[in-house]
Amino acid sequence: KIRVRYAPSPTGHLHIGNARTALFNYLFARHNKGTFVIRIEDTDTKRNIADGEKSQLDNLKWLGMDWDEGPDKPGEYGPYRQSERKGIYQPLIQELLEKGLAYKSYMTEEELQNQREEQKARGEAPRYVYEYEGMSDEEIAAKQAAAEAQGLKPVIRIRVPHNKVYEWDDMVKGHISFKSDTIGGDFVIQKRDGMPTYNFAVVVDDHLMEITHVLRGDDHVANTPKQLVVYEAFGWEAPAFGHMSLIINSETGKKLSKRDESVLQFIEQYRDLGYLPEAMFNFITLLGWSPVGESEIFNRKQFIKMFDYKRLSKSPAAFDNKKMEWINNQYVKSAPSDEITASSLQQLIKADLIPANPSVYEIEWVRQLMELYKMQMSYTGQLAEMASVFFTEPPKLDEAAKKELADETAPVVLNEFAKQVNELPIFDAFDIQAVIRNVQKETGVRGRKLYMPIRIATTRAMHGPDLAPSIELLGKEKALKHLQQTLD
Ligand code: GLU
Repeated sequence: KIRVRYAPSPTGHLHIGNARTALFNYLFARHNKGTFVIRIEDTDTKRNIADGEKSQLDNLKWLGMDWDEGPDKPGEYGPYRQSERKGIYQPLIQELLEKGLAYKSYMTEEELQNQREEQKARGEAPRYVYEYEGMSDEEIAAKQAAAEAQGLKPVIRIRVPHNKVYEWDDMVKGHISFKSDTIGGDFVIQKRDGMPTYNFAVVVDDHLMEITHVLRGDDHVANTPKQLVVYEAFGWEAPAFGHMSLIINSETGKKLSKRDESVLQFIEQYRDLGYLPEAMFNFITLLGWSPVGESEIFNRKQFIKMFDYKRLSKSPAAFDNKKMEWINNQYVKSAPSDEITASSLQQLIKADLIPANPSVYEIEWVRQLMELYKMQMSYTGQLAEMASVFFTEPPKLDEAAKKELADETAPVVLNEFAKQVNELPIFDAFDIQAVIRNVQKETGVRGRKLYMPIRIATTRAMHGPDLAPSIELLGKEKALKHLQQTLD
């Protein structure tokens, strides 16, 4: 039975790369009717942030994922936070110490630093050199006792065998091997504060939680041989590993880094802007995975059905903003009106353009406004800006617009339109459209010369959604005011 896990460290909010790791594990588990586990890797206490765990889990849920076991869903393999598993790691470390497979190391940070500097100066790769080389058991014991007497705290290191090869068939990248002598020497499995290191705890947890497949980002490739050393020391069978290619910014061709401000990188940011979770789920799944065929729009159920890890890409996944906007627009266009209206309301309230407790009329007005703009919208946070003419003082006309109004027919059209609109008993799109036809009859002006001046004068833009409904939503008062300002 397949068991996979997503193992976030609560050192920050949910990053798009982590969301992708979670998603592929989720899809792999659900496709295979396996179990999806969430495990919180919070042993780096200095780096944890207060609401890190909650925010990560909230955002996974928002994206549409659920899990079978986790800190909020206790199962047989708990606890699911590493900080609550200290009692599990201790005896295992002890076991390795007793077997002579691990040892206490008292070298100070400063000594280690000096060692690395010297190695660098000699042009060698920095690595830890066994500090008890050539010593007898008694000599080692004496050296350690002296360090203890000085009040030094040890780390615990695991012995890395010499001249061995650690290798695995990666589910994504194919065969990978590391020579044991290139992984930096005996590495730390327990820190000075008594906490296990990531490379140790992850092995213990994956083993005890009976994880069958480890799918994670390829920044962990170099950790895998170390983890294999730990599996070997205990005589445990290692799970299958798959390392997913990194994400690059398609604009710059560079690895997506948290400093890159051209791309939003945290799920929370998308959420705040009114992106739809189903669309983000779709977009993220296509970052480094591709379905068979041309189509790219699928819902969660379809992705679960189709998911085949063999289609995870070996080459970097390109984060393409335009594609993201396109996918999101597909969802905005076809989502239920109520959902997009609610989301639009939230955004307009946040922007202070609509009162916090809108009346039914205001809600209906927002629905119509959203309907007018949704064909062009990727997320509802765009509405305030796209429809700014409805909320704020109209912007000044630009040169292109002025040119359109320079024709001598323009004031004739606008005056006639203003006069007839003013007389309308009911101000709705249907009657406004009728007025436009009447203006054509009265003035003899048609086509672009008729529509452009009216559009520019009322909405202050040369392009936009359907004209008559736009004017209706603007309201009689504003429409007339804009017309008058243009004529003055
Ligand atoms: N806590 C690790 C991370 O956030 C998990 C790595 C793993 O999946 O083994 O990168």
